[in-house]
Amino acid sequence: MLEVKKINKSYKTGDFVQHALKDVSIKFRKNEFVSILGASGSGKTTLLNIIGGLDRYDSGDLIINNTSTKKFKNIDWDRYRNNCIGFIFQSYNLIPHITILDNVEMGMTLSGVSAKVRHKKAKDALKKVGLLEHAHKKPGQLSGGQMQRVAIARALVNDPDIVLADEPTGALDSKTSVQIMDLIKDIAKDKLVIMVTHNADLAREYSTRIIEFQDGKKVSDSNPIKDSESEESHINIRKTAMSFMTALKLSFNNIKTKKGRTLLTAFASSIGIIGIGLILSLSNGFKIEVDEFERDSLSQAPIIISTQAMNITEETMNNYVNSDLEEYPSEEKVYVQDDVLETMVHTNKFSQEYMDYLDGIDKKDLSGVAYQTATGFNLVNKSTSGYNLVSGANYWTLIPKNPNSGVAGIIQNNYDILAGEVNDSEAGLILQVDSRNQVFASTLKALGLEGESVSFEDIMNAEIKLVLNDEYYQEYRGMFIPSMDLKKLYESENSITIKVQAIIRGKEDKSIITAGSGLGYTNALTELVIEKNKNSKIVEAQRNSEYNILTNQPFEEGSLTNTKDIMLSYLGAESLPSVIYLYPTDFDSKENITDYLDEYNKNKSDEDTIQYTDMASMISSLSGNIMDAITVVLVAFSSISLVVSSIMIAIITYISVLERTKEIGILRALGARGKDIKRVFNAETFIIGLCSGVLGIVIAYILTIPTNIVIENLSGLAGVAKLNIVHAIILVIINVILTIIGGYIPARMASKRDAVVALRTE
Ligand code: ADP
Ligand code: MG
Repeated sequence: MLEVKKINKSYKTGDFVQHALKDVSIKFRKNEFVSILGASGSGKTTLLNIIGGLDRYDSGDLIINNTSTKKFKNIDWDRYRNNCIGFIFQSYNLIPHITILDNVEMGMTLSGVSAKVRHKKAKDALKKVGLLEHAHKKPGQLSGGQMQRVAIARALVNDPDIVLADEPTGALDSKTSVQIMDLIKDIAKDKLVIMVTHNADLAREYSTRIIEFQDGKKVSDSNPIKDSESEESHINIRKTAMSFMTALKLSFNNIKTKKGRTLLTAFASSIGIIGIGLILSLSNGFKIEVDEFERDSLSQAPIIISTQAMNITEETMNNYVNSDLEEYPSEEKVYVQDDVLETMVHTNKFSQEYMDYLDGIDKKDLSGVAYQTATGFNLVNKSTSGYNLVSGANYWTLIPKNPNSGVAGIIQNNYDILAGEVNDSEAGLILQVDSRNQVFASTLKALGLEGESVSFEDIMNAEIKLVLNDEYYQEYRGMFIPSMDLKKLYESENSITIKVQAIIRGKEDKSIITAGSGLGYTNALTELVIEKNKNSKIVEAQRNSEYNILTNQPFEEGSLTNTKDIMLSYLGAESLPSVIYLYPTDFDSKENITDYLDEYNKNKSDEDTIQYTDMASMISSLSGNIMDAITVVLVAFSSISLVVSSIMIAIITYISVLERTKEIGILRALGARGKDIKRVFNAETFIIGLCSGVLGIVIAYILTIPTNIVIENLSGLAGVAKLNIVHAIILVIINVILTIIGGYIPARMASKRDAVVALRTE
């Protein structure tokens, strides 16, 4: 069943070639106790290693079950070692960081035997060698003789057909040696035992056959197999495969023996994670904070649809800069540049159709609307110092009206009404005061009021007069000139009294957009002006003239102030708005509205589209972009430390491979595949990666506490740094992957380690 046939083996060290085995041929019986005697260096260990499948022969053949092993692949050798061979070494070769029981079980663990079966078999084997009560000790806690018994238990537990013992008593005293020999002989009754020794007495006493070696050659054989002997027997080769759990357990136990180092490594490599974790939690927190702020305030900023919309896109910017022309030319020539207005300003043409389309906006989404027209007002007030023409009505704020009824939500939500009542269906003024109840003198003057301070009552009682255009403009030689007689205008029975409806002040917590002061007027005021003037003589005169009747100048096409339409609008002829403000109810409504506006532009030629400006989203996308950019840069910086830490892991794993060389050899001797060895180290880096990742996240999380305290002291914002659980999990995963990558090359090196060389290292 086992035959060594003309085997040669030599080792090359530099130029020197050592012939360790020369033409060695031996046939073994299924059941015998063979002792191999010979001086040191005569090739005994080499022969044993070759028989055990740990080492490869150069020429000749090893015949198992009448089959040549010349075509054996690594995996076949691994299986053969795992379940046909039991090794016993002079130096015991137990794995120091796992228990006696685990050591004995290892061969079965490698071949995927279930835990229950493993425990039972291992305990039986330990019982046979008399060490059951020591099962949970580590090898270092046993004496030499006891350790060799463990090795014997390990060699026999898998019930191999062949037991190979390389000087099993070499390190033991003579009394213990005898006990060990008795044990081997007893347990190996039904097996082939091949024992290397240089103790001739022991060999003679215990073995059934003695083979002597000298300089790599067999020189004698006390009981060779005769030709007449024939034997039918079979060596059974089964599969082996280490599970990742086994690899994890092995590595975990190993790591436990060097807790300090592991902790330090994990901590050092967690620094990158801590950095990235903190940065992400800060940017995440700031984003949430900014989002909330935007939802609160910016979402209330109106969507503005103006007759002249700025259309700043990459395309229009490119059109504006004529890239066909060379920069800094030497040419003595000047070129005409495209007009900004032509390239970047989109002219929105409001039609009644579009106004009707706007009526289709879901009223729930609107908290206020304002339609600004080019209509000019002529207002006259009466103060202690006389009559004044109130100019600047065009600089006043148009108070949005509620699309449904009552006060516009935008007013209700953002302002406190200090006096009076906002009534947007009636022509009137709204006075806004700042957080200190201040307004500019000019604002008061517009109401005909003066003084260091003015009572609410005086303000609410102030009266100014809306003067009709036909009374204000006097025709003189075909031109229309404003009247100078303000008293007459003020006192005219056609003039309409306008009063302050309400005094409002921005709410305390909405300070940013509602700060400041000024005068506002209701939409109804514009509507009143139009109603009173649309059939006026001056409107009629302007309709019939191709000149601007106020300046007597010809109109300019494309002008923003001097076209016939604008003039008609200014004078109060019924007109379409020049700017439309749509105030959304909240953030989501804003999206609904912009979606609705976008819908209008579908399938329209560029010219016919209506462009709008959404300040809030421009600001928020800007702030979002800046935040994202800062985050990316900071994360990139901290990632460098992640790379550094994976290099560190590579080095640590490499050191671990060096340290665990012996263990690699033992595992290989027990039938571990190269793959299994790789797994052991991958498992180790996995554990370190997981530890450092989790440690990093925990530390980053703890650090958010002082970070938040500092930020709160600096900015008053509480709880900004928030670690997102998804980020945390992703970071741990990335860390594990990086450390495994870092440890991969050393792990691969370990798997390629020569088992024989590995076993020879101390
Ligand atoms: P024994 O076990 O009989 O003492 P070995 O089989 O260990 O002898 O070694 C036989 C010869 O081969 C010795 O000269 C030894 O130095 C040499 N040898 C064994 N293994 C190696 C190796 N890996 N590299 C180089 N020489 C080796
Ligand atoms: Mg030897």
